[in-house]
Amino acid sequence: VDHLHRSERNTFGVSGLNRVHQRRLDEEWLAIQRHRPDTRYLVVYGDLNLVTVDRAPCLLAPEQADRLLEMAESLVFLGTDDQQHTLFSIGLAHQTSEPPAFLTRSGGLKGLRSVAPLLGQRDASLLAYAKAMAHWHHTHRFCGTCGAPTNSAEAGHLRACSNADCGALDFPRTDPAIIVLVTYGDHCLLGRQARWPERMYSLVAGFVEPGESLEAAVAREIDEEVGLPVQDVVYRSSQPWPFPRSLMLGFNAKALSDAIHRRDEELEDAQWFTRAGMAEALRSGDLKLPSPISISYRLIEEWFDSGTAQDGARESLDDIVDAAR
Ligand SMILES: [Zn+2]
Repeated sequence: VDHLHRSERNTFGVSGLNRVHQRRLDEEWLAIQRHRPDTRYLVVYGDLNLVTVDRAPCLLAPEQADRLLEMAESLVFLGTDDQQHTLFSIGLAHQTSEPPAFLTRSGGLKGLRSVAPLLGQRDASLLAYAKAMAHWHHTHRFCGTCGAPTNSAEAGHLRACSNADCGALDFPRTDPAIIVLVTYGDHCLLGRQARWPERMYSLVAGFVEPGESLEAAVAREIDEEVGLPVQDVVYRSSQPWPFPRSLMLGFNAKALSDAIHRRDEELEDAQWFTRAGMAEALRSGDLKLPSPISISYRLIEEWFDSGTAQDGARESLDDIVDAAR
């Protein structure tokens, strides 16, 4: 299994869309696509996605979408699916009043974290893509250089400053963040933040800072959170994480010592787990892991399931977590 296939197992990573970026400047083609009867529109309202009552992406036809466009903050050409249907997304700013009634009649406005576990990979990825684009438009309405309003261009994939003397261009952003599974012999390190749900433990993670390589960010975050020197920092897979705009970059690293020193206050606890110990703690309810939609869970699963029967890992992590639920 290579990096591409590992990343495709992570939720939000495979929309199945062809983004046809070469059409983003083709106004004539885009105008035709906008009103084709088989074209569909996704809707993002604030940070919520419009989904059907069956918890699938709610896809509006062009005549339904037209009613929303006048109040839309953004319109983005997402791409074409494998049946050659063109997909757009409409971003609506969160209103202090209730969302338009006809919008909620078409389905429900839901947080992506809550619906993603119920969706297939492509549907979840599609909602994540639309959510990320709507968020970027909402937070880049003004130029970061001169403060003038910006205008959407290139089918929603560029915002251009309206001040002719400035002319700054802004492209959609995603923030790189590392997440790392640290091992020491046959132990894996899990930590917890005080604000997390009770008994939930996860991996060391943090944003990459300017002037830092990914590997340096991995080593720094581990040092800050648990005070461990590491070696063999190895990239595993990545995951778009639109909460609101991260790209999670998953690593493994080997600790040179098992003596945990929590240097900053980010973690309230950190512990080493063998596979057998983790299985036992999951079964007893003393340990909860992050949602399977997270790369954190996938990195833990990858480590756990690579164990042998001698480690007490006869069952897969999914089996144990499902049984404990
Ligand atoms: Zn400007």
